[in-house]
Amino acid sequence: MNITPLIGLEVHVELETKSKMFCGCPADHFGKVPNTQTCPVCLGLPGALPVPNKKALESCLKIGLALNCSINRLSKFDRKQYFYPDLAKGYQISQYDQPFCSEGFLNLDSGKKIGIERVHQEEDTGKLQHTVLNGEKVTLVDFNRSGVPLVEIVSKPDMSSSAEAKEYLKKVHEIIRAIGVSSADMEKGQMRLEPTVNVCIENEAGIRYTPLVEIKNINSFNFAVQAIEFEIKRQVEDFEKTGVEKSSTNKTTRGYDSVKKVTFLQRTKEEAKDYRYFPEPDIPPFIIEEDFVEKIGKELPLLPDQEISSLKNLGVERKDAKILVSTQNQVAIQIIHDYSDDDRIESKKLASLIVNGKLDPAEHVLVRYQELTKVGNTDRGELEKVIQGIMLANPVLVADFKGGKIAVAGFFVGQAMKETKGTADPKTLSEVVLDLLNK
Ligand SMILES: [Zn+2]
Repeated sequence: MNITPLIGLEVHVELETKSKMFCGCPADHFGKVPNTQTCPVCLGLPGALPVPNKKALESCLKIGLALNCSINRLSKFDRKQYFYPDLAKGYQISQYDQPFCSEGFLNLDSGKKIGIERVHQEEDTGKLQHTVLNGEKVTLVDFNRSGVPLVEIVSKPDMSSSAEAKEYLKKVHEIIRAIGVSSADMEKGQMRLEPTVNVCIENEAGIRYTPLVEIKNINSFNFAVQAIEFEIKRQVEDFEKTGVEKSSTNKTTRGYDSVKKVTFLQRTKEEAKDYRYFPEPDIPPFIIEEDFVEKIGKELPLLPDQEISSLKNLGVERKDAKILVSTQNQVAIQIIHDYSDDDRIESKKLASLIVNGKLDPAEHVLVRYQELTKVGNTDRGELEKVIQGIMLANPVLVADFKGGKIAVAGFFVGQAMKETKGTADPKTLSEVVLDLLNK
């Protein structure tokens, strides 16, 4: 029996814009007094008119471009209708069949390409708070988050292990941070993960697929890994017991209990038709011009993978380059590039010293580097003076060398090293010794 997991990922990212998606309320809702950042638009009061946030649109396009998507020239918002207490309007403004960005990809380090189906813009919902008030269990609603710009990134089910899913998620996280559209702080819920999992089972009976499961709202990479692994095992066992296949059942939604390390059934998943999507009548469709897309593309900084390759091209080891890029150590990255033409500094060593915390890139880099590496002296003029002094003091050995005893060169190298207190570059030193003795 051959088992191949099929894993897709939906990633929600809260954008860090000043104002919300369709109104002027502040988008920064974390830790604010509940329901102090609302207005008729984000509370969904009758007659309120949404006005799209241009900055959010730009951020969404940036994400799309960074993930190699095509930007759709014609796009629109749609209403996705469902009832939930944190959704005052009774619908969420999202994008259905004409998202801003589609058909992109992201490369894993192995070279495997993970397809990106779409990147679309929507708005966040309010937040429910389950608590106890006057001895009674109550649920409170805070609408500060309602209407905060949210981007959804949907991958194709191209990942076949939890390790690939984790690498994909980390890369998306780094890209989002690098292009400056969000800090994607998982603890603040700025990035939320929803893996979709099923398994392809191949045996004598043929190729069959287990029913699709979407695991909701995971807030850490490790929990995503654990949930995916649990789900693969559960589905294979379930299939062996029941034989139920994907084609004969609906997609279901499961939650993940990080304490018990299990997934649990939440509900049979609604299908798109249950949401009764229809075009948002209050916002006209978008025609996105080529030059607008070009302008946004030019604003993108080097992406993490590009930054890693540019460091590797300078000789920096891959593991060090990855650490510098993932920790967004822009000062160090800049310094390494600045010194890349300086013969006194080896980029590989400099990067390693910074990564290992031995050298602070904000302080006298060259001095500290030379202290730490003691490679320092490749100044031929200075070395020549030292060696000439040793030659004058040892005329017999100089004559021996000229007479064919080549091994005495080692004596001069040793003496010169002593006199320069080990700061001479060994390779340069040997060259200068031989040059002078051969004169
Ligand atoms: Zn508002």
